[in-house]
Amino acid sequence: MLILKTDCFFVMQSVLFFKMNIMQRFFLLLTVCFLFSSFANSQIGNKFCGTDEIALEIYNDNPSLQALMVQKRNELKEFTINYSQKVNVARSNDSLLIIPVVFHVIHNYGNENISDAQVESAVQVLNRNFRRQHPDTGNIESIYKPITADCELEFRLARKDPNGNCTNGINRIASPLTTLGNHSVKDLIHWDPTKYLNIYVVKQIPNLAGYCLMPDQAAAKPEWDGVVISHQYTGNIGTANEMRSVTLSHEVGHFFNLYHIWGGNNVPGYYYLPVGQQSNCGESDEVADTPPTIGWSSCASTNASCGNVVDNYQNIMDYSYCNIMFTEGQKQRMRACLHSSVAHRNNLISMANLYATGVINPDTLCVAIAKASKVYACVGDTISFFDASLFNADTWEWNFGDGTIVNDTNPKYAYFTEGEMSVVLKVAKNGVWLQSNPLKISVSNFVPQETFVQDFEQIGNIENSELILLNENKNTQLNLFQSVGFKSLKCAGVLLNDTLHFSGKNSMVSPTINLENTPNAKLNFTYSFSQKKWNNNDALEVFFSNDCGKTWSSVLKRTSANFRTINAEIQNSNSLPMDSSQWKVIEVAVPSSFQVEDFRFKIDFTNYYGNNFFIDNININPELYTSAQEITRDFFRFFPNPLSEKIRIESSLENFNIKITDVAGKEMMHSEAYRNATLDVSNLSSGMYFISVFNETKKMVKRFNKL
Ligand SMILES: [Zn+2]
Repeated sequence: MLILKTDCFFVMQSVLFFKMNIMQRFFLLLTVCFLFSSFANSQIGNKFCGTDEIALEIYNDNPSLQALMVQKRNELKEFTINYSQKVNVARSNDSLLIIPVVFHVIHNYGNENISDAQVESAVQVLNRNFRRQHPDTGNIESIYKPITADCELEFRLARKDPNGNCTNGINRIASPLTTLGNHSVKDLIHWDPTKYLNIYVVKQIPNLAGYCLMPDQAAAKPEWDGVVISHQYTGNIGTANEMRSVTLSHEVGHFFNLYHIWGGNNVPGYYYLPVGQQSNCGESDEVADTPPTIGWSSCASTNASCGNVVDNYQNIMDYSYCNIMFTEGQKQRMRACLHSSVAHRNNLISMANLYATGVINPDTLCVAIAKASKVYACVGDTISFFDASLFNADTWEWNFGDGTIVNDTNPKYAYFTEGEMSVVLKVAKNGVWLQSNPLKISVSNFVPQETFVQDFEQIGNIENSELILLNENKNTQLNLFQSVGFKSLKCAGVLLNDTLHFSGKNSMVSPTINLENTPNAKLNFTYSFSQKKWNNNDALEVFFSNDCGKTWSSVLKRTSANFRTINAEIQNSNSLPMDSSQWKVIEVAVPSSFQVEDFRFKIDFTNYYGNNFFIDNININPELYTSAQEITRDFFRFFPNPLSEKIRIESSLENFNIKITDVAGKEMMHSEAYRNATLDVSNLSSGMYFISVFNETKKMVKRFNKL
């Protein structure tokens, strides 16, 4: 089979291969070829652990640390022997050991940005597997049932970050490094490994499910201490599944100094023993009650090797994917590791650290956080609000900034007035109140402005630009820039505060613009941008909406040579446009389907390690009404419909009358208004009604339903 040959040829190219003896080479080839062929036949295509391979890589790449690694390995080995003897004589009274955990979800806005619930399922699976609570423990081969251990280890998501601030123990970092899955993700964020078990969730680790540094190497490379795991192997819901969920328990086993059950890389020089080879029978995982085995990457009760009746192929440190148990010997080895100072594992479980990381009182209410389904809307649009406070509030008070206060947990709300709303959530637990930072919601009127012009010359603050500014990544901000505008003084720019972390989108959303009577409207702007590398995926994209921003249509996208305005790779993140030759002009005609009353445009700048982005002279061509158009145009709107209590009427007429009649033509209400009005119609009985808006020269009638 051609594919098989190619894969095997690839392995032959590796440096590692030539460092092995003849037998090792033979079995590695056999194993790898077998694995690749079984992948091809497998629906799931489970990948395996890379801890051993990466241990060898770390050892070879760090000659100056090799002696330290070996010393720490021996130190922990000796400590473990002494600890086990002590435990066998008089069992220590610290039965349950608690380990604070932090998950760093490294994502590029794809499905690798797994939900909080999926992360929480990963913690549940860890606790289940380490507490002998896997639902299939009844299926454990009978000779291994008596030594199946409740390891008495419990994992808890951190509740305080390294600065003592409130956290849910889940960090989300946007970075393209998520597709590499190598140690570089640990440069993005790494919490003190003497206080937290760091777990990095990534999009992929090429050919691997996960890996972890064992304590001897973590002691030498503390900045790399922790587990890296593919999101598809994190927890048992969402993008992961039950079968793959065991991988994290396996990696954490390595974190606690467990070798693979067949010996792993427990050999001089950190070479490793590939799974499934006969010579593994002569190797050891340094655990007394796990019998020698060749190691299994398949699951069958006929799995027997090294003279065993049946192997412990269901051990979590094997490769079988039906692994559900640790042994008593492994339990003692892990607990020894957690009492050893090697890699400061003993600090993780100290009472002082459990308080410092907040896992002792994990349900304390510590911060109020308000979230909303959208931060811009039109009058009458329903917005969903969410309580994201930590943790477990029992009382809520939402102040929507327009005088309305409600006590629901996750309320839905529609504004009846336009403006910049400042939403504040107060939460309480047991009578102690906390207040959120204000959440700004920009609410536009249905009778909006009829043009948009912004050259940034007349404003002193970007907040006054009328643009709604959104950024996916906290490490960027839109600012005003002086002295670098396009043929002018000022312009706006997306400033990158931190190019290491950045991969994300900054958006500028317009207020609603009435283009109903502007048949030849065009959006114009100028911009300047240089790429760091010409093959980076930096992009500029323009969207139009004809429903106030509920839905968007892409009308222009520029990448690479079409996007950049400077034909050179510029490495200076603080670069500024030098002169008008480094700007481009964009003009996009607004199609007729977007020439509506509540038009919006949106300009997205997506940065993948590019430089600052500058924009200037954003405008929609103004065009005045003709008198003929003014007579026929729809001059009022109302909402909601159907309705139950209030009706809101808005008109382009200044002074007007409102009349509500039933289907028989009987007048039910009459009112006068200036520009807009809100009427209480709760007294009307259910049914259909007509609403008329009129002045001396115009009249228009519409229909609504009262619930
Ligand atoms: Zn492993």
